[in-house]
Amino acid sequence: MPDVVQCGHCMSKNHQVIHIHRNAAQKPLPGAPCNGCGLCCLLEPCPLGVILSRRRRGACVAVRWHDDVQQYRCGALCEPVAVLQRVLPARLQRLSPGLTAGLAPILARWARRWIAVGQGCDSSLQSTGLAESLTDARIQ
Ligand code: SF4
Ligand code: SF4
Repeated sequence: MPDVVQCGHCMSKNHQVIHIHRNAAQKPLPGAPCNGCGLCCLLEPCPLGVILSRRRRGACVAVRWHDDVQQYRCGALCEPVAVLQRVLPARLQRLSPGLTAGLAPILARWARRWIAVGQGCDSSLQSTGLAESLTDARIQ
């Protein structure tokens, strides 16, 4: 069974297609409690995500799908070691084996400060909903 579907996303006159988990909830209205739909982080990274992803468009490298709660979560907050292992150069990690473990609490602290956790959906994005199932794509 495919893990992701294509979701047509509409932002002003621009349209963008993102890959999103088939069980992800529909995005709520701005101001409503965040339901972990993931749309914001899959479309483009927040300021912290820009640093981690080293790009301004496309899915943030830190966004993670959690099967147990069927939601997307910020990996910088809930899986900082895994995120650092992904974003730090492998050579640097080889030279300094304890680096990721040492930096993980700092990254989680930044994430808590920078991300508006528990303050409701702050995204005005509009999604056109599910369009097409894919079998050859995966969200990491
Ligand atoms: S902030 Fe809004 S768009 Fe982003 S994951 Fe939460 S509900 Fe979805
Ligand atoms: S909230 Fe976390 S996962 Fe989402 S864009 Fe920011 S750093 Fe990335």
